[in-house]
Amino acid sequence: MNEALRVERRDGPDGVDLYLSGPIDEDTLLAEGLGALGGRVRVHLAGVTRINSAGIRVWINTFRAVPPSVDLDFLDCPQIIVEQANQISNFIPRGRIASFYGPYACAPCRAREGVLIHVEAHREELRRGVAPEAPCPRCGQPMAFREFETEYFAFLDDER
Ligand SMILES: [Zn+2]
Repeated sequence: MNEALRVERRDGPDGVDLYLSGPIDEDTLLAEGLGALGGRVRVHLAGVTRINSAGIRVWINTFRAVPPSVDLDFLDCPQIIVEQANQISNFIPRGRIASFYGPYACAPCRAREGVLIHVEAHREELRRGVAPEAPCPRCGQPMAFREFETEYFAFLDDER
């Protein structure tokens, strides 16, 4: 049996939280998983494990169909989602990426860490192609960003 995407939905007083986990591919019933959406919607993506080309079409069609009245945020985007947002101009057809993981490495102790970056808190430096400072969780030394910053943060340029 193939692994399938799971969507956990929590409806609260300040909006809907959707937690996605697993792969997004041609078999993913994403729109059905999201259900009817209104008001504020936060899509949490830390659990997404992979997305293939068919999954990208499912993703774009699903979020393009979200009504304009919905205030849509994508949170905790893993690197695989950031890469799609950078390579495909309409990958985020509605809403905005509010937070994402950046790949960091520590030279002294060789730790490799994904660090969660909040766009609003770092918008100016991200737009300049500067990765936020991140201390190594193991040894406390400042870590280095492992991708080309201007490319990794390029998705911010086509926010709408
Ligand atoms: Zn370290």
